[in-house]
Amino acid sequence: MAKIILKTAAEIELMRNAGALVAETLKLVGDKITVGMTTSDIDKLVEDNILAAGATPAFKGYHGFPASACVSINEEVVHGIPGPRKLQDGDIVSVDVGVILDGWFGDSAASFAVGEISEAKQKLMDVTREALFCGIEKVCNGVRLGDISSAIQEYAESRGYGVVRDLVGHGIGRKMHEEPQVPNYGPAGKGPLLKTGMVIAIEPMLNAGDYEVITKKDGWTIVTADEQPSAHFEHTVAVTDTGVDILSLLKTEQPERVS
Ligand code: MG
Ligand code: MG
Repeated sequence: MAKIILKTAAEIELMRNAGALVAETLKLVGDKITVGMTTSDIDKLVEDNILAAGATPAFKGYHGFPASACVSINEEVVHGIPGPRKLQDGDIVSVDVGVILDGWFGDSAASFAVGEISEAKQKLMDVTREALFCGIEKVCNGVRLGDISSAIQEYAESRGYGVVRDLVGHGIGRKMHEEPQVPNYGPAGKGPLLKTGMVIAIEPMLNAGDYEVITKKDGWTIVTADEQPSAHFEHTVAVTDTGVDILSLLKTEQPERVS
């Protein structure tokens, strides 16, 4: 098994800059998202914001992915390719953004409502975001990775949602995907021990129906097998001696730091 790379405090500050840019970009998407916009319009917003900050869109060209944002509508879980499709009233849209800033990666995702959405879709989004935070709350030096996974799974399944198995979170640093894999399901008390300086992206994908997913013919877009909607929330977080440090927040949302 490949090694888990620990980051120094100074490296984590650089990752915080990358994470803050991702947060700012997702906030911009949330502010602008509207009925009639195309998924390409979202991609352009994302790409322009990243480039204006002097950073690089991490997804563009990654294994051949053609865009800067993954934009996934309703039954699309993740890895949707931006294009001419227009957002409609009642859609939910998951937007995943990755950047490289000063050599360090940031990765975060959120689902957004377009116009008026159903109560069922709102609840799916709320529970998915809450499931992410159930996982984040477990993060601390000395805890097992499985404690995060099981907290997410228990919360999601107790509310009747399917937890996607085929895609998982990941370590992150100078590469987008490092060890360890961070599943959103599995038993507590198992898996690698978290240590101060580890940085991981936690990213539950919850389905309104069953957890099974399939890949569409475009080779990228992952959709629910039963065509029911799905939501996705992700944060990049660092493990600390006393808990967790969420790196993919706006600078204004970060706790005051004395340097
Ligand atoms: Mg992501
Ligand atoms: Mg990720």
